Amino acid sequence: MNERVPDAETLSAALLAIEDRRSWDARAELARAIELERAAHALGDDLLAARARLCQINMRMRCGDVAQAAEEIWHVHQWAVEHDARPLLARTHLVWSAIHLHLGDAEQGLEHAVLAVELLDDDATEHMHVWHRTKLADALYFADDMDAARVRYAQAEELALRLGSPALLCLLNNYAYVESCSGDLERAQEVADRLQRLAAEWDIPIEPAFLDTIGSIQVANGNHLAAERTMRLCLERHAEGRWDDANDMAQYLVTLAQAQRGLGEYDLAQASLDEARQQCVSRDLGEALVRMHQEQAELHAARGDFAAAFAAHKTFFEAYHQQQSLGREARARTRQAMFETAEARQDAERFREQARRDPLTGLHNRRYVDERLPDLIRTDPSLTVALVDLDHFKQINDQLSHDVGDKVLVRVAQVLAREVAEACPDGFVARMGGEEFLVVLPGTVVPRATAQLDGIRRAVRNQHWAPVTRNLPVTVSIGVAGLADAPGAAQAPLLSTADGHLYAAKRGGRDRVVSAADLRGYAGHAPAA
Ligand code: GH3
Ligand code: MG
Ligand code: MG
Repeated sequence: MNERVPDAETLSAALLAIEDRRSWDARAELARAIELERAAHALGDDLLAARARLCQINMRMRCGDVAQAAEEIWHVHQWAVEHDARPLLARTHLVWSAIHLHLGDAEQGLEHAVLAVELLDDDATEHMHVWHRTKLADALYFADDMDAARVRYAQAEELALRLGSPALLCLLNNYAYVESCSGDLERAQEVADRLQRLAAEWDIPIEPAFLDTIGSIQVANGNHLAAERTMRLCLERHAEGRWDDANDMAQYLVTLAQAQRGLGEYDLAQASLDEARQQCVSRDLGEALVRMHQEQAELHAARGDFAAAFAAHKTFFEAYHQQQSLGREARARTRQAMFETAEARQDAERFREQARRDPLTGLHNRRYVDERLPDLIRTDPSLTVALVDLDHFKQINDQLSHDVGDKVLVRVAQVLAREVAEACPDGFVARMGGEEFLVVLPGTVVPRATAQLDGIRRAVRNQHWAPVTRNLPVTVSIGVAGLADAPGAAQAPLLSTADGHLYAAKRGGRDRVVSAADLRGYAGHAPAA
């Protein structure tokens, strides 16, 4: 079988079509994004795979599966951070923002929305420029800063207009909706009017969800005739099945019923509500059902049937509370999913840290050295390192016990760590293995380092060892090397020079510090103290 795998360019274009388009068929797009991820893996292209993954997460959110999205977003986000994939990172922040807003955490939602805009650069698409600014404005509204939200909407609107971006309609929809939620119905109407004017000018049919926004604002402003017309158009467009989710129809029917009630067309309003109720029951639509019951109570009241209105109001109230508790459960599931990934991340960090520590002494290990030293060598010309080895340590093991040997190692490690922290706060000590340690002293030239290391040598010898080793002394030999002593400014020659000097210290009688200068002159800092 020779299945053809699309090339990277084709894949990227296919992903962009999902990323930069407002598609209503989230399930179909989800399936498509899964397919594209598979193709990206077949190509071995991790960036395309990550983009496909993010598309899936977005579609899961659209399908209402926020918990699943919350669980998956972390991995894509982490990948984007590690690979400095800015446009992808801007998109992952937008998803984080949406998740936090869903959880009712406006502050976090805003923080991520700000980053989603800050990370936009030349690589970002026009759609992203407009859309991310729109979402930032939305987040500002949720964070209770309507003034700042207006500034951002206006900026996004201007940009979208300049670019001729179709995202402008979506932007105006959100803007109008937010204005009406914040209670400024006049402004909401102005924005809704702009949306209609622009759509006519660009000859773009307004999608049903936006018409519902416009219709609701018209109802709120008492323009019931206009609202009724808007909602009829909305339901016609919805019936074309081109735009939105079948589930939205119940919401549109309720808005239509509100307009009809306003016009005094009570029978028509009741018929619309009956249809909405049927939709809600057959599709299990909690949120629309709450609105339906509320409007039913209003309709009964408008007809003067206050007993029925009261009963409907009670039903509304029950439905409302049930919906609230379902919402709480859903949010708890999302939080749980986020919490679990946060815990997994902490575990991973803990394991990472553990893997860079020596279990006996708690000092860093060779692996840590291998990760840190190359950078220091590259950037710090006054870097000095030293290998520290215990003298006649075998004797301690043999004459006392391995256990005592361990205690001595732990104690020496403590002395080294303490002395290094004092002499050079940027420095560190690592256990390279056995009874050998590496001291790393950034920004310390060899002569100064040698003096400090001699202090460390004395500190080891002068410990009160008797309770641990009885009459056996504990001393160390130290070989020092700076970058000038090692050819090529690389880790291997630097450590090998230090090792050569350590060997010289041992040969010279132990309990001493040896550097290149000592080899040229005398045999090291002899044990004077
Ligand atoms: P020198 O002064 O030449 O360094 O002599 P030395 O006895 O210190 O050196 P040698 O390399 O001969 O012996 C090191 C000993 O350290 C051998 C090994 O059993 C012991 N050792 C290595 N790791 C550990 C450990 O984790 N715990 C204990 N107790 N001993 C260890
Ligand atoms: Mg030794
Ligand atoms: Mg040794």
